[in-house]
Amino acid sequence: MAVLTAVEAALWDLTGKALGLPVYQLLGGKYRDKCRVYCDTELYTATNPVPDDYAKAARGAVNRGYTAVKFDIDDARDPNKFDRYNWTASNAELDRMYNAIAAVRKEVGPNIDICVDMHGRYDATTGRRVAKMMEPLNLMWLEEPVPADNIDVYKTITQETSTPICAGENFYLAYGYTRLLSEAGIDIVMPDLQKCGGLGEGQRIANLANLYYVPFSPHMVGSFLGAMATAHVCASVPNFHILEWQTLSDTEPKWKEIVQYDKPFIEKGFLVLSDKPGVGVEINEEGLKKYAMPGVPFFA
Ligand SMILES: [Mg+2]
Repeated sequence: MAVLTAVEAALWDLTGKALGLPVYQLLGGKYRDKCRVYCDTELYTATNPVPDDYAKAARGAVNRGYTAVKFDIDDARDPNKFDRYNWTASNAELDRMYNAIAAVRKEVGPNIDICVDMHGRYDATTGRRVAKMMEPLNLMWLEEPVPADNIDVYKTITQETSTPICAGENFYLAYGYTRLLSEAGIDIVMPDLQKCGGLGEGQRIANLANLYYVPFSPHMVGSFLGAMATAHVCASVPNFHILEWQTLSDTEPKWKEIVQYDKPFIEKGFLVLSDKPGVGVEINEEGLKKYAMPGVPFFA
């Protein structure tokens, strides 16, 4: 499905270039010129961060112009875990999760949005407890509190808590989202447009979500090319909410060397669309070769 998605996205880019039109125009036009993003800080690379580390990472993102941040609270290395394979969080783990995000809320104040990701690792008991526990922190969302598959559990958690529940990065094709929206009733849908079936399929998912009055907030862990391809879809639908953005994409030189774009990557927490044909981002083959995996043949 990921390969199909890549080919589909490339065909939108090629078609846009052939017709001299940006992809958002092929998708029916744009509702907006720029797309709000939330910042995934680099904290997920740290081992056993403490609440102060979370607060500092959030402050750093806000100081760079972001209006929303996301933090991971699942941690297989938490010393308070009693068992390597069981994912029932202990009370000490729950305290760690709460204290980390409470420190973020205290640092950034009430008007910066905070997303929290559990990566679909914990069991239903833990997912339900975390969603309730986080209610006073007024999250923008709690993401994948339990594994992606069981619609009934998502329904239970979503109905039990006032914390908005977000899911969808592990679903595929528009039809795959129907039960998540109609039965689980999740609050926010987050397809990954680099693996869900493509840009056209992403737009169909957004429109499907809109029938349920659900905001569209895509998952995005690709390169700047992937981010901008996703942004064209985000621009083309009314219910776009916010897009994921990796702060490393802006701070690590590698990500700028492998593409060419005629604008800054990010402006005060927004991705600004290009009016160039296609996605508007060109591959820089020299840059790609520089960072290619040694010993693996280069595709070009
Ligand atoms: Mg996630």
